[in-house]
Amino acid sequence: MLSFDEVGGPVSDRWIATAEGQHLRGRPTRNTKPELALRCAVHALGLRYRIHQQVAPRCTPDFILPRHRLAVFVDGCFWHGCPAHTPARFRGPNADQWAKKINTNRERDLRNNQSAADAGWHVVRVWECEIRRDAVGAAQRIWAETSRGAAD
Ligand SMILES: [Zn+2]
Repeated sequence: MLSFDEVGGPVSDRWIATAEGQHLRGRPTRNTKPELALRCAVHALGLRYRIHQQVAPRCTPDFILPRHRLAVFVDGCFWHGCPAHTPARFRGPNADQWAKKINTNRERDLRNNQSAADAGWHVVRVWECEIRRDAVGAAQRIWAETSRGAAD
């Protein structure tokens, strides 16, 4: 039997407050440090971008290069399930919720890729850890994508 709490979700989906939760809650999903580092490196390569422009319904990349029809998403390793930085199994009282949440995020990422592509955008996804390791290298990967011939 399923019972529901005041926000309408099944009680079993309630999050239990933990120290990690406190740490993660309220983390900015926009203008994160890696995102800013990447934008800075992209700019240094002479590319011009616009931030937080919607390219399709419910699809807003972290930034776009309008001239090249390039949509760039910066994915946080934890929330988007980076293969190098996501535990194979989550631990603790919220393990199932973490796994579920990250799965939901990944599904949304795939939907966003599709929506952007349908709207005529080429999608580039960059992991947070890739930027931390080598922001210039990540920017160069984007730069390489601009020479696909889509420039006007
Ligand atoms: Zn990572």
